[in-house]
Amino acid sequence: MAEPDMRYVSRTPKKVPQGRIVVHNFPAPENSHREHGAGGFRVWTSTPHPNWVRCDCGWAPWLPEHYCSLSSYERWKGGKP
Ligand SMILES: [Zn+2]
Repeated sequence: MAEPDMRYVSRTPKKVPQGRIVVHNFPAPENSHREHGAGGFRVWTSTPHPNWVRCDCGWAPWLPEHYCSLSSYERWKGGKP
């Protein structure tokens, strides 16, 4: 499997770029407007890849969908009471 294509963004995209997906490194359920660089939060665009899983943390609700790093997402889900 090829390494995923990652292009970091300085601001959260207002919409999903054509042919790409928006990904963050860990779920941010406490701040739907969290920006790239805030407290280690990272945002990038990519193309579908097994490392990325569709996320429902509540971040960037203006986007129809966004994705999360798989390992972080599983940790987040696993840590829920
Ligand atoms: Zn999310």
